[in-house]
Amino acid sequence: MHMLPIADRWFEITRISDDITLLIEPHVVPLMRCNIWHVRGRDRDLMIDTGMGIVSLREAAAHLLEKDVTAVATHTHTDHVGNHHEFEHTLVHEIEADQLQTPSDRGTLLASVMGTEAIRKLAKAGYPFEGDLITALPHAGYDLASYSLRDAPVTEIVTEGDIVDIGNRHFEVLHLPGHSPGSIGLWEAKTGTLFSGDAIYDGPLLDEIDGAHIPTYIRTMKRLRNLPVEIVHAGHDPSFGRTRLIQLVDAYLAKRA
Ligand SMILES: [Zn+2]
Ligand SMILES: [Zn+2]
Repeated sequence: MHMLPIADRWFEITRISDDITLLIEPHVVPLMRCNIWHVRGRDRDLMIDTGMGIVSLREAAAHLLEKDVTAVATHTHTDHVGNHHEFEHTLVHEIEADQLQTPSDRGTLLASVMGTEAIRKLAKAGYPFEGDLITALPHAGYDLASYSLRDAPVTEIVTEGDIVDIGNRHFEVLHLPGHSPGSIGLWEAKTGTLFSGDAIYDGPLLDEIDGAHIPTYIRTMKRLRNLPVEIVHAGHDPSFGRTRLIQLVDAYLAKRA
C-alpha cells in the first residue's frame, strides 16, 4: 500500500451567489465526491447533503452557519449523509428515514472491503478508480479502516409536495426515485432552481446499484424534462441549465427507455 499525502484542507468552498455556497471534498474520488449546498435563508439555512463524514462539516462551514440549519438528505447514500449526525435538525424522505437514522450500510473507504466485483461494475458505469476512496488523509495517522457512517437524528420526514420554507424562499419537495427509492429534489418555482440530488447530474448516472430501479428512473427523467428549470444544482458535478437538462434526460432515455 502506498502512502497518501496529508490534505492541507479537506473542504473546497465556493461561493455561488449571495445565498448559495458549494462545498466539496476534493480528496474523495469522483464517485463519492458529492456536492454539498449551503443555502442561506431569512429564517433558517439549508445544508443540502453533508458529504462523507470524514471531517467535520460543521466546523469547516462554521463561518456560514449563523442561524439554525436543516441538513437535508437528498437521499441516504454514504457520500451524501456522512455529516448529518452533526446537525440537530435533519430532513429526509419517508422511504429513507430509517436508513438515515440507523444506516444498514455504513460504507467504507477501502477498495479491499468494496471488493473487485463492485469496483469492476463501478468502472463499467463510468467511475474507474485505483486504490482506495480518498486520495489524501485528513490528518496524519488517519486510519481509513476507522471510517463508518454514524447514526443521525431524523426530525423532519417529507413526501412529494411538502414545502420547505426558509423564510424568503420556499422549496417544494419533488419525489424523484430511480437512483434510490427515497431520492428527493428541492424545487423553487419562482426562480426555476432545482437541487436535484442524484436524480440527475452531469456525469455517469447510476441506475444499477442497490435500490436503483430503471423503469422508475425513466419516469423521473420524463418528469424532470417537463420542469421549467433555469438552473440545476445537482448532487455531483457542475450545475447546468435547461438545455443541458434536456440533453441529459434524452441521453438517458435513448439508452434505457
Ligand atoms: Zn446516490
Ligand atoms: Zn451521489
